[in-house]
Amino acid sequence: TAPRERKPDWIRVKAPTSAGFNETRKLMRDLNLATVCEEAACPNIGECWTKKHATVMILGDVCTRACAFCNVKTGMPRAVDPLEPEHVAIAAAKMGLEHIVITSVDRDDLPDGGASQFVKVIQALRRNTPSTTIEILTPDFRNKVESAVEAIIEARPDVYNHNLETVPRLYPTIRPGARYYASLRLLESVKRHDPSIFTKSGVMLGLGEERMEVHQVMDDMRSADIDFLTMGQYLQPTPKHAKVAEFVTPQAFDAYAAIARAKGFLLVAATPLTRSSYHAGDDFAKMKAA
Ligand code: SF4
Ligand code: SF4
Repeated sequence: TAPRERKPDWIRVKAPTSAGFNETRKLMRDLNLATVCEEAACPNIGECWTKKHATVMILGDVCTRACAFCNVKTGMPRAVDPLEPEHVAIAAAKMGLEHIVITSVDRDDLPDGGASQFVKVIQALRRNTPSTTIEILTPDFRNKVESAVEAIIEARPDVYNHNLETVPRLYPTIRPGARYYASLRLLESVKRHDPSIFTKSGVMLGLGEERMEVHQVMDDMRSADIDFLTMGQYLQPTPKHAKVAEFVTPQAFDAYAAIARAKGFLLVAATPLTRSSYHAGDDFAKMKAA
C-alpha cells in the first residue's frame, strides 16, 4: 500500500486508554449500541469517551449509501432493533448526559427511511431522562423527506442537525447519493414547521473546496435560517476513501469562524478536529446561558 500522508501536528490526538473510555465502550457493547465515534473512526474518541460523551448511531451499523469520505460499512442493513430506543435511554441515564447526540446510518431500504425509530428514541429519552437535551443528526431521507421530517419535528428534538458535508461542486464525487439543495431544503423545512427547534449543519474542509465556495455555503445556510455551523478537517479514514486535498491551518479555520459569526450563526465551531458532535453539549449549554 502507498504510504499515508503525514498529518500536521495540529491533527495529532491522544491514544484512547483511560478508564472512562473503557467504561463507555463497555456500556455501548452491553446495550448493543453502535456509535459514530467508532464507526466513523473519529479522531476525538479518546477525549470524548473519557468524558463519557458518545454519539449513538441508531438503525444499525450498515449504511445503504457509500459516501466517499465515510468509514461506515455499506451493504444490506439488518432488521431494526425494537429494543434500541430503550437502550439509548438507558445509556443516556447511565452516562448522566445533559445533552445527547443521536445519529443514524442512511436507511433507504425502510419505508419511512428510519424516521419512526428517531421518534421512538426521542420519546424514550423524554420519558427516562427528561432534562437531557436532544440533538438529532439525521440522513436526508431522500424521497420520504416531508413525512419523515414532520414526524420527527412533532417529537420535538431540541436541535435538528443535518450536514451538508461539502460544497455543491464536490457532491458528485464526495456525496454522490445526495443532493445539496435537498439537504438545504430539509433544514429550511424544520425551521418553517417549528421555529423553536434549533437547526444545525456542518461541512468538512480539505476536500478541494475554494474559500469563496465555503462562504457561499454559509450564505445558503443562513438563507435557510440554519442556526449553528460546524466545520472540521476531513481525514481520510482508509486509502480507499477520498484523498485529503489540503490540511487547512488552524488560522484559516479561525478566519472562517469569524466570517461565519459575522453572517449571523448563533453558534460556530470551526477547528481542525471539530466534528458535528464535538463539544456539542457544552456549546449548546453555553449558547442557552448567554
Ligand atoms: Fe464521538 Fe462526536 Fe466525540 Fe467524535 S466528536 S468521538 S463522533 S462524540
Ligand atoms: Fe456514511 Fe451517512 Fe454517507 Fe452512510 S449516508 S455512507 S453513514 S455519510
